[in-house]
Amino acid sequence: MQHIYFDQASSSFPKAEGVSDAIKHFLDQGAFNINRGSYEAAYEISQLVLETRELLADLFHFAPVKNVIFTPGVTYSLNFLIKGLFHTGDHLICSSMEHNAVMRPLTQTAKLGVRFDAALCRPDGSLDPQRIEDLIQPQTKAVILTAASNVCGSFLPLAEIGRICRQHQLWFILDSAQMAGTFPLDMQALQIDALAFPGHKGLLGPQGIGGMLISEEIAQLAEPLISGGTGSASHLEEMPALLPDRFEAGTLNLPGIIGLRAALQYLAKQPAAAIAAKELALTAAFLRGAADLPQVRIIGLPGCAKRAPVVSLDFCGDDNARIAYQLESDFGIMTRVGLHCAPRAHQTLGTFPQGTVRFSFGQQNTEDEVNFCLAALKKILRRQPCSSSKGDSHAL
Ligand code: PLP
Repeated sequence: MQHIYFDQASSSFPKAEGVSDAIKHFLDQGAFNINRGSYEAAYEISQLVLETRELLADLFHFAPVKNVIFTPGVTYSLNFLIKGLFHTGDHLICSSMEHNAVMRPLTQTAKLGVRFDAALCRPDGSLDPQRIEDLIQPQTKAVILTAASNVCGSFLPLAEIGRICRQHQLWFILDSAQMAGTFPLDMQALQIDALAFPGHKGLLGPQGIGGMLISEEIAQLAEPLISGGTGSASHLEEMPALLPDRFEAGTLNLPGIIGLRAALQYLAKQPAAAIAAKELALTAAFLRGAADLPQVRIIGLPGCAKRAPVVSLDFCGDDNARIAYQLESDFGIMTRVGLHCAPRAHQTLGTFPQGTVRFSFGQQNTEDEVNFCLAALKKILRRQPCSSSKGDSHAL
């Protein structure tokens, strides 16, 4: 049976051309550590790491390169920012579409007296920027926002919120998980102070590598969440002020960085906007077909404007888990069913607690795969519906 991977919002597959070769070459030909040994081969690896930071700075239109920090991914970056930057009495604003990578650190720091409010999004996942402005208080320090919903793909109004943040002197912290690599994100134009990115989604790199790009002000004020050896300023028992070392204690994930470098080089060679255009064409074809399916509710925005290539369907009167299971077992189609680590988003979209089946499209997916999936859904829906109630769906 063929396999079709429609869970690209979780992690992209296949990875960019050149990623696995680059990692293998590093591991086989000289997996030396950087910032430690003073030998030529280690300096060569340092150079590759620096180039990776430069590629990221270019991609997100950001400077200085030393403020590009590697972490294992978005979740870690957001934890570093939320737990390292805010103190008792501070107030933060997020939206009701946030992933638990934002919500869980926020609820953890709330126990320490860092308050937050979530601006309520519309039932299609979009957000009226006024909702953010209405929540601003004298103690508000930052707006933390997902760029696009990982449940239904809706974009959030980044440019408007960047403006509001500047006007009120708030930091704008972005979770770029569902946009980075697929859509342009210009930190300067959008007035973003800190951007958290995953290497393994739209950037087409391996899992376990990601990072954050942080303004000089944030770099000066944030307490490093993790401390330890950096190979620099070894006479000190405190974390050095030097960047990026201040936020990169311990040995870096060098195979991950080398793989990410290859992925970024691949992306840099693609014609501008071609990646988003291809994925959105697949999304549009899927949305058109899904609109003809009986008893299926398309969650979020109806069209492809202002959305990432992520579509959530609610199979009304049926069990979403059954649909996802049969797509995989009978047709080899991999999707993700449940609450997608975003319970508040599902509450906003009216799909809590049953969740949805999420289809997300990537660079190597094809229109034939989309058509095959739509035909598979028709066949599944013609079969005897499951008698179990919605509440039986597995909330993942
Ligand atoms: N934020 C959003 C919107 C996501 O979709 C995800 C992952 O799916 C994350 C954060 C967490 O990313 P990671 O697991 O790579 O840290």
